[in-house]
Amino acid sequence: ATAYLNGEFLPLGQAKVSVLDRGFLFGDGVYEVIPVYGGHFFRLALHLQRLAQSLEAVRLENPFSENQWQNMLQELVERNESVDQTVYLQVTRGAAIRNHAFPDRVEPTVFAMSSPLEPLSAELRIKGVSAVTREDIRWKCCHIKSIALLANVLLRQEAIDAGAQEAILLHEEQLTEGAASNVFIVREGVLVTPPKGSFLLSGITRDLILELAKENGIPCQERAILAQELTQADEIWLTSSTREIIPVTRIDGIRIGNGAPGLLWQRMDKLYQAYKMKVRAGLCE
Ligand code: PLP
Repeated sequence: ATAYLNGEFLPLGQAKVSVLDRGFLFGDGVYEVIPVYGGHFFRLALHLQRLAQSLEAVRLENPFSENQWQNMLQELVERNESVDQTVYLQVTRGAAIRNHAFPDRVEPTVFAMSSPLEPLSAELRIKGVSAVTREDIRWKCCHIKSIALLANVLLRQEAIDAGAQEAILLHEEQLTEGAASNVFIVREGVLVTPPKGSFLLSGITRDLILELAKENGIPCQERAILAQELTQADEIWLTSSTREIIPVTRIDGIRIGNGAPGLLWQRMDKLYQAYKMKVRAGLCE
């Protein structure tokens, strides 16, 4: 695979950064993950907008204009072979003698790589996945797409160790999001997801689902979701750029709905796949 590092395209295995990089020492940086279908970026402008917001929130100057990001990322995609790709990019505060305070005049480290984007397995679409609930032990700035993901890593691993695929996080008995996904529930035909704020990442997929729901007359609400509503839900979904919309059919060992992906999931998945087809054809972003 070909990667991009500080102005250069090079084989991923040859991309090297200093051990003094603040991304390595402090997790001092932000990132994005953007899917690419048939060479076309999915919601690129929104990802770049969220990147700009993350950079501003951590007081890093945006190293590129929107146009420069587009050109670099497009070239990265062209230099990689797969039809569908997932592009990862990150900006860190650069390499400097270790000191918590910001260094003076340090160049940020800009890195991007692409990997093949595999379609979701048929089994997952038929059976759904299981999830566990956990206390949201993360910091209070979850709207920032920070590369410091230790809590998310530990929480996801707890889910895996429990034989589940995702940890659904609760802050003071209210749902926030998954370890690497946003969460929706369906109750009595209404699609519900927690409101944006500092307790969760403002997911690009989340926003698209709300857009598609509105366009198609599916009732939806952005409101606080209580822990107890999870087991009462008719459906639970996880959403993210690379995993699209995943139905959760078991939570903490309890069956959700009839234990199979729900009807509204099937409908939304069709709308989502149709949107992806348009992106693939270059008809929208
Ligand atoms: N929440 C967290 C913590 C994430 O890491 C992610 C992405 O992986 C999401 C939500 C979903 O965001 P998006 O739909 O923009 O990929």
